[in-house]
Amino acid sequence: MPRNKVPVSLLIAASLLLIFPVAFSQAPKKIKTIVVDAGHGGSKDPGAIGQYENSLRSKEKDVTLAIALKLVEELRKQLPGVNIVPTRVTDIYQDPREKARIANEAKGDLFLCIHADSGPLKQGRRQIGTRMVTRYKVSGKGKKRKRTPYQVEEPVYEYFKLPLTRSGTSVWIFAAHKTSDKLKAIMDGDEGFELEANGVDSIENSIDFSKPENRIIASIYAKRYQERSDLLATMVNDEVETTGRQSLGVSQRQKGIWVLQATNMPAILIETGFINNPEDERYLNSEKGQQELAEAITKAVKRYKEQVESINNKPTANTNQPAVTSNNPADVPDVLEKRPVKDSKVLEVKSNKVKIDLYDDGEIDNDIVSVYFNNTLLVDKRSLTAQAHSFTLNLVPGKTNELILVAENLGSIPPNTALMVISDGTGRHEVRLSADLKNNASIRFELKNNN
Ligand SMILES: [Zn+2]
Repeated sequence: MPRNKVPVSLLIAASLLLIFPVAFSQAPKKIKTIVVDAGHGGSKDPGAIGQYENSLRSKEKDVTLAIALKLVEELRKQLPGVNIVPTRVTDIYQDPREKARIANEAKGDLFLCIHADSGPLKQGRRQIGTRMVTRYKVSGKGKKRKRTPYQVEEPVYEYFKLPLTRSGTSVWIFAAHKTSDKLKAIMDGDEGFELEANGVDSIENSIDFSKPENRIIASIYAKRYQERSDLLATMVNDEVETTGRQSLGVSQRQKGIWVLQATNMPAILIETGFINNPEDERYLNSEKGQQELAEAITKAVKRYKEQVESINNKPTANTNQPAVTSNNPADVPDVLEKRPVKDSKVLEVKSNKVKIDLYDDGEIDNDIVSVYFNNTLLVDKRSLTAQAHSFTLNLVPGKTNELILVAENLGSIPPNTALMVISDGTGRHEVRLSADLKNNASIRFELKNNN
């Protein structure tokens, strides 16, 4: 090979190994290390700041640190065998690359980023008094033109920022699936591309996606850990909801969470609350709120750990002892028994006759699915397309009516995500379900009959 002709791919691989020494290893069987990141930090990166009138002027970096420290303590208490690694324990600045490096070097099995949201604030004004101003009345023309001064009273206003009305906790994952066209746009350096309207953690947008190594990292990590990140994110959302706090669900975004793609492990970002919402700001600053969030996240992590480790151990367990659910094997198809339902939705319908149109959600990538209704095969290995595949369900009153989506392959962009347009005669609902080769997805119908 002539000198100076090192293949580009080799250079990229080499630089990847330099930044991410643990890349490309097998997914771990046990959760041994959990990395907790208190978002932002130091005077250089305070994050969002409480700015509405009479706010506590909280800085996101302080709130995230307080919650993260409580979370570290709670995880250590509840998961004594697991190594819990905080990215920071004091108010120091960390570049997102630094945070990712700490997580990767610790060989984390999970990465939890704690943040607080904000949003654009509207301006309000109130009259605080009046003042006298001089105006002029003009009369006459040419040389006879005359300006007569007169006094007029005008209001004086004070301007202030109104608090955000939006509140609640949301959980974010980085995802390439479904939005891979958007990912491409970002990777191609389309700066005008924006996924979210507010709460952007701008400091983390500073990564240059035009660099090949960053593009590669983004796609590899995103696809690889999306499923597990999504599972954990869903569990965190559920546990937060259980506390009675408003939970805004699990969302995906590409921008602003570079650190999630740069870590070689499932990773989620929790926007614990809106720092510019008065109730949220007080909640985030309170011992009670911080502890409640730490405990809810810990519960979710414990559930996630149990589920992931039990999936990993299943083949071993099955060879040694009979399956626990074997008392009724004839009733439940194998694929429903072996794959737990991960993505489960509940839908209220008003009629026991329900029509369903099934589509591929997002990019058509050759997803093949089967659909079971109350354990009976209804759709057998159909390819999902933009054209609807339609069928009807007869719901049984007083029974759990469950429709289960089973992935038969992973298409080219895993997992398999189906869009179901469901009509019950009076209303129309859109439900998105995603399934893969390990987990099924389901809709449970709740019949609300008025007859
Ligand atoms: Zn943040």
